Amino acid sequence: NKVITLKERPSGKPEENNFEFQDEEKPSLSDGEILLKSKYISVDPYLRGRMRDVDSYIPPFQLNEALSSMVVAEIIESKNKDFQQGDYVSGMLDWKQFQKHSGKGLNKITNKNVPLSAYLGVLGLTGLTAYLALENIGKLKEGETLLVSGAAGAVGSIVGQIGKIKGCRVVGIAGTDEKIAHIKDDFGFDAGINYKTTKDMTKAIAENCPDGVDVYFDNVGGEILDSAMQNINDFARIINCGAISIYNKEEVPTGMRLEGIMVKKRALMQGFIVRDHVDEFQHAIKQLGSWLADDKLKFDETKREGFENVPKAFIEIFEGKNTGKMLVEV
Ligand code: NDP
Repeated sequence: NKVITLKERPSGKPEENNFEFQDEEKPSLSDGEILLKSKYISVDPYLRGRMRDVDSYIPPFQLNEALSSMVVAEIIESKNKDFQQGDYVSGMLDWKQFQKHSGKGLNKITNKNVPLSAYLGVLGLTGLTAYLALENIGKLKEGETLLVSGAAGAVGSIVGQIGKIKGCRVVGIAGTDEKIAHIKDDFGFDAGINYKTTKDMTKAIAENCPDGVDVYFDNVGGEILDSAMQNINDFARIINCGAISIYNKEEVPTGMRLEGIMVKKRALMQGFIVRDHVDEFQHAIKQLGSWLADDKLKFDETKREGFENVPKAFIEIFEGKNTGKMLVEV
């Protein structure tokens, strides 16, 4: 039974030798327990933060202990009357091929109309993040302009499509021309900006958002956030969902460069953590599921094969190798 642990804390961009594969015995069950076989493992940008030895809203990973993330797993043996062998569950689980569990806190996957892997993406934490951050902070109104960075990624691609469902002009920022074509052609975005080939992002955002930006959904932080802020309207809402452009920086840029704009525009900028909204998950999953069934919402994923490729897939997120949700089929 293979387990992936953190051998050393990454400095800068994570590397494969920061991780270690260890062997442990396949667990045997006591009463009330279930045996899980990992099927799909989610790799996410926020895990980078947990690799630092600092206090955050979620505790840091410990060296030489199993890493963890959202996993879809099959129950291959059950001594718990609430779970049947052959059922699938999703939950926060260790990066192990096999593990035992009490079942507490796991979600049973009952809807067989969507692929299992969707429970790590559109019907998992990234879809929930997109929907609930827009509901709670964005409060989109028809006819407004929504700008989203990380637009071809797991969160961003769902954000943009929800913007279209709500009748907004939607502009996405992503790192390749293929990703820009994809969000426009397949997901209905009105426009896209490739931040890697655009010299003046502030100007490009102004050109693509002629009526200004009412909601900026920020997945990347840094200079793209600065440029977005130069284009916000009065009473704009800025959702600080993530800041992947600085996750690998050893020194985080300091100082609030934007407060003049915040005052002038009476804007609202608010951080968002999806786990604060657990009570809203069921209603959000229902809404996202119904949009999927009606074909109003599409999703994609970048699937890597094999348990041995989990660390590599995680690193590839920081290279923009994924379109949609990055995950590993074990
Ligand atoms: P994505 O699927 O969007 O993958 C990350 C993408 O970020 C890459 O594909 C890459 O695309 C882009 N990227 C990488 N480096 C940079 C950079 N330096 N500058 C700009 N873009 C970069 O990931 P997720 O959808 O899972 O997460 C998106 C964001 O949302 C992250 O910041 C994450 O931490 C955050 N998040 C927050 C949650 C919360 O509760 N607050 C919950 C879930 C996610 P490209 O080719 O365009 O560069």
